Amino acid sequence: MIIKFINGIKKFKVEVNPSDTIKKVKENLILKIKNSKYSNEYYSINSILLIYNGSPLSDNDTVEELGIKDRGVIQFSKMYRGGEVGSAVKMMTDPEKKGPVKWKTTYDGPDYLIVKKGINLFGFCQNKNCIAYKKEVCHPFGLGTFDLIQDLSSKSDKCPKCPACEYLLLELETCGFMKCKYHYEGMKIEKGQFKKLDYSNSISEEHTIDYFEAGKNDENKSLFYELKIEASDL
Ligand SMILES: [Zn+2]
Repeated sequence: MIIKFINGIKKFKVEVNPSDTIKKVKENLILKIKNSKYSNEYYSINSILLIYNGSPLSDNDTVEELGIKDRGVIQFSKMYRGGEVGSAVKMMTDPEKKGPVKWKTTYDGPDYLIVKKGINLFGFCQNKNCIAYKKEVCHPFGLGTFDLIQDLSSKSDKCPKCPACEYLLLELETCGFMKCKYHYEGMKIEKGQFKKLDYSNSISEEHTIDYFEAGKNDENKSLFYELKIEASDL
């Protein structure tokens, strides 16, 4: 049987057997990509995500068990930590895992860590020539809506940048909020299933931001398939 794979403009047809595991299907797809005009793109079993009928597929299940039909369409995407431009899944601190920490603002921090009212996006600068290289920097986004998947691409003017060098902050760590109501809405992937995230809170104290810690080894982070973060006036 044939399965069609789609990721934006990239389309592949792969021959599979109903008894094939998803791991095997991934191997065949990766081989197909290697032999196409997209051969310069790197994919591995662990970095490729397959989605069928809105559910992510686990490596050990078979095509038959998942009820995938001949000519069925599977979406595929790269799973990257932080994020490669255009990847459909990104790691980010999950507000449901550990609530906000009250972070007092000071007047003597570096210029690349200035926070403002609304959403503040934190990441690490990847530019070797920047004074903030490998340091945590803050992109004050302001009030409005930040879309983790759509806006974290070089094509969007909402894409966060390192304030010291203007390099794109593709590896976002977390968010902090100042003097606003804020709301997270999205879809995360947990144990191979999509789970809804809906979290609201507000911060009204002076000289304080609500900061979500990533934790040791990113323990407070989740893999997001969709995530919109909104901040509005109190
Ligand atoms: Zn920088």
